[in-house]
Amino acid sequence: MIIGSGPAGYTAGIYAARAGLAPLLVTGLTPGGQLTTTTDVENYPGFAEAVQGPWLMDQMREQAEHVGCELVYDAVAEVDLSERPFKIRTEAGDAFLADTLVLAMGAQARWLGLEAERVFSGYGVSACATCDGYFFRGKEVVVVGGGNTAVEEALYLTGHATKVTVVHRRDRFRAEQVLQDRLLANPIVSVLWNHVVEDIVGTTDPTPVVTALRLRDLGTGTAREMPTDGLFVAIGHDPSSALVRGQLDLDEAGYVKVAPWSTRTSVPGVFAAGDICDPVFRQAITSAGMGCMAAIEAGRFLSEHAPSPSSEPAGTRAQAPVA
Ligand SMILES: Cc1cc2nc3c(=O)[nH]c(=O)nc-3n(C[C@H](O)[C@H](O)[C@H](O)COP(=O)(O)OP(=O)(O)OC[C@H]3O[C@@H](n4cnc5c(N)ncnc54)[C@H](O)[C@@H]3O)c2cc1C
Repeated sequence: MIIGSGPAGYTAGIYAARAGLAPLLVTGLTPGGQLTTTTDVENYPGFAEAVQGPWLMDQMREQAEHVGCELVYDAVAEVDLSERPFKIRTEAGDAFLADTLVLAMGAQARWLGLEAERVFSGYGVSACATCDGYFFRGKEVVVVGGGNTAVEEALYLTGHATKVTVVHRRDRFRAEQVLQDRLLANPIVSVLWNHVVEDIVGTTDPTPVVTALRLRDLGTGTAREMPTDGLFVAIGHDPSSALVRGQLDLDEAGYVKVAPWSTRTSVPGVFAAGDICDPVFRQAITSAGMGCMAAIEAGRFLSEHAPSPSSEPAGTRAQAPVA
C-alpha cells in the first residue's frame, strides 16, 4: 500500500504494479501533490519545453493506473505499524491491511500567512529557489527567512537574479556560519535585519505580477514599500509525518529517517520516499527516484518475508478492506 499521490507515490505505484505487487495507492486530499499548486515546471526531464504542474501529475496518475496501480480517493486517518500486516484506516472509515507500506505523504512549505501569497503564488511568489529561480534571470528578488533554508535559497538565487535582498525579522541569521559568510560576501546581496514582510503588492490583470513588498521595520515601527520582482518564502517546511509520529524514527524536524542509500525506515516493511524523508533536495525528480527505490525495496522485502499469518498473497491483501 502506498500513501500519497505526489511524484514519489505515483512512481512507487508504477514500479510496484509493474513488479506484480498489486499496489493500492491512497491519494490524500491533494491528488497529485505539491506540483498541482504550481504552473510552469521546466526541470522535470523528458520535456523540451515547460509543462504545467497539474498536467504532469495527471500524466503520472494515468501511467500508474495504466500499469495497474489501484487508486483510492481518500486520506489515511490512522495507521498501526506495531505488527504486520499493518493496519490502515481512512477518513471515509475504510480499513485495510498491508504487508508493506510506502509512506509518500510529502511536505508542505511554510508560508507567511498573507492572503496575497495565494494570489501571487506561481506568479512571483515561490517557496522553492531551485524550482523557480530560473524564471527570475536578470530580475530583483527578496528572500524572507533567516535559517539555513533562507540562506541557501538566497545563495542559489545569486546565480540568476541581479539583486537579492534577504529580509529577516531578527538581527542575525540562524544559518551555519560558513553559509552566512558566503552570502554576506556576495556583492549583489543585501540584508534587511529586523524587518518583516507585511504584504505583497502587485497587479492581477491580466495575470498576477508582483511589483513590490510592504515591509515593516521592527526597530522603528515604520512601514515602507520596496520594489521587487519576486518573493521567495524560505521559512522552512513541515513534513507530513503526523500519521506515523511515535511509531517510527523521525528526525527532530519531523522527517522520516531512512537508512543510507535506501528507503527503509526503522520499522521493517515500511518504506518512505520523497519530501517526507528529504529535507535536502525537495524536488519532483528526486521524489520520483525515491518512489522507484521504495517500490523495489518493498518488492524485495515481500519476497524475503513470508506473508503475515492468515493472509492471502501479500500483493493483493492491501485491497481487502477489513472490518
Ligand atoms: C509551488 C511549488 C512549485 C514547485 N515547483 C517544482 C519544480 O518546478 N520542480 C521540481 O522538481 N519540484 C518543484 N516543487 C517541489 C515538488 O513539488 C516536491 O518536491 C514534490 O512534489 C514532492 O513529492 P512527494 O511525492 O514527496 O510529495 P507531495 O508532492 O508533497 O505529495 C504528497 C502527497 O501525499 C498525500 N497525503 C498527505 N497526507 C496524506 C494522508 N494522510 N493520506 C493519504 N495521502 C496523504 C497528499 O495528498 C499528496 O498527494 C515545487 C513545490 C511547490 C510547492
